[in-house]
Amino acid sequence: MDEGGVAGFYRTIRMIFQQIFDAINLGIVILDRDLKVQGWNRWMEVHSGIPVNDIINTDIFNSFPHLNNSKFIRSCKSVFTFGNFCFFSQKLHHYLFPFKTTSYSDFRFDYMQQSCAMGPLRNDNNEITNLFIYVQDMTEVAVYEHKLVEMNMRDGLTGIYNRRFLETKLKEEFNRHKRYGGVFSIIMFDIDFFKKVNDTYGHQCGDFILKSISSRVATLIRNVDFMARYGGEEFCCLLPETGIQAATAVAERFRSAIEHQENNFDGNLIKVTISLGVAEFKVEMESPHSLIKKTDEALYRAKREGRNRISVMEWEETVHP
Ligand code: GH3
Ligand code: MG
Ligand code: MG
Repeated sequence: MDEGGVAGFYRTIRMIFQQIFDAINLGIVILDRDLKVQGWNRWMEVHSGIPVNDIINTDIFNSFPHLNNSKFIRSCKSVFTFGNFCFFSQKLHHYLFPFKTTSYSDFRFDYMQQSCAMGPLRNDNNEITNLFIYVQDMTEVAVYEHKLVEMNMRDGLTGIYNRRFLETKLKEEFNRHKRYGGVFSIIMFDIDFFKKVNDTYGHQCGDFILKSISSRVATLIRNVDFMARYGGEEFCCLLPETGIQAATAVAERFRSAIEHQENNFDGNLIKVTISLGVAEFKVEMESPHSLIKKTDEALYRAKREGRNRISVMEWEETVHP
């Protein structure tokens, strides 16, 4: 190959790489030893809104001041000094370049979740003259992961928390209060004669009533309260910073709302009632199970005493000498 041929060959290769550089679904940034931008592909232009001509030959910190931190600078140094590769995982860092997301705006991520890596680029003499950073959009994966976690803590039918989640939360609250004191309460409720609803109108109608009751009660609690489906037609609410009297008032709101609610299923207006048990945390209680047991006892007393009512836990105050 003559001189022109070799030059032409490299020109062609260069053009091919330039096209790949701009077409690839990854952000690619090239920095020199002064951390000035020497490469900025189309993907970076699109997501940052910064055209290549505005950023080329400028300090990366001009456009992204938050990168001026010891972790990032140390990583760059280790690439230039030792030829290391560095990885910035989405799980740990969330992102290196703050790019707003639009497609997931209804979800918890305001910024694109990124996995990034940086590594050395060498010249003909094997000297490291530049480093590259690639940026991979992991938002979709992160959203999916969060959904899986959510599914694990939610009840499939009603969408409220499941028993496992409530028990974890209860354990946390219990241990915290055991240590630092304070109050919190629990309301447990069970639909009265629910078997009869299923027997009369069918299981589908029963499912509908379960959903309808849980949505109604969900409107009566605060953001800080946790409501879970505890069993088949049994629900449990954890009310932080709430003493037994206030919790009993909340329980009465539940009872009255459900008693008056008309559930329209296939043209049938069905009314149901609930029985409720209320209990509060006592520092003398040994475990979260003791509190659940007290609530359960109260609930079954409400059932025995005629249903559609509230019963409050019985507690003998221990007299300290
Ligand atoms: P009580 O007033 O004593 O609570 O009477 P009950 O009929 O509500 O209580 P029982 O424990 O005898 O029956 C509970 C019923 O709840 C039986 C079961 O089929 C129904 N159930 C439990 N989970 C579901 C569900 O997910 N969907 C439907 N449709 N029914 C359910
Ligand atoms: Mg029942
Ligand atoms: Mg039951």
